[in-house]
Amino acid sequence: MVKIGVLGLQGAIPEHIRSVQTTGVEGIIIKRKEQLDEIDGLILPGGESTTMRRLIDKYDFFDALVTFGNRGKPIFGTCAGLILLANQIIGQDHAHLSLMDMKVERNAFGRQRESFEAELEIKNVAEDFEAIFIRAPSIESVGPDVEVLATYHDKIVAARQGHYLCSAFHPELTDDHRLTEYFVKMVKS
Ligand code: GLN
Repeated sequence: MVKIGVLGLQGAIPEHIRSVQTTGVEGIIIKRKEQLDEIDGLILPGGESTTMRRLIDKYDFFDALVTFGNRGKPIFGTCAGLILLANQIIGQDHAHLSLMDMKVERNAFGRQRESFEAELEIKNVAEDFEAIFIRAPSIESVGPDVEVLATYHDKIVAARQGHYLCSAFHPELTDDHRLTEYFVKMVKS
């Protein structure tokens, strides 16, 4: 059976596990880098990207995560996870995993709108996806190999680059599991 891990250092972990299980595959919380060898794909959950980065370093995950991606294993970053995947972060000198060629802006929707819901069209996934944004980032620009999957008010909020997928919103917080299912299909193929 296909096994999908959820990086279990911080953030919306059980919600992703539940969403993965709903699609009929196994969901595993990843707390040690050695566990990466047991899984076929990985979700980087939402949370707080700087905190998550600190924990990635503390538990010696950094190189193992980059290697996992470089070996062609699919990774899906949501919200803070999207920030971890980007190779440029506006206002910061250093990015994190730098696995996707895109420039991201943290907290892109302003303080007045800490969290909100919006119906999105997501290419190849859904025409009416109810997306929950929580202190969400946006993707300001993407490189030539990145496919834009969804926009909201002219900001890019979902994208794919080969075996990497990301969303600025939280697909695990509703009962609509179509984006998780799309990732599961990427892992299976
Ligand atoms: N604003 C957070 C960050 O910069 C992301 C928020 C989220 O993951 N819900 O990491």
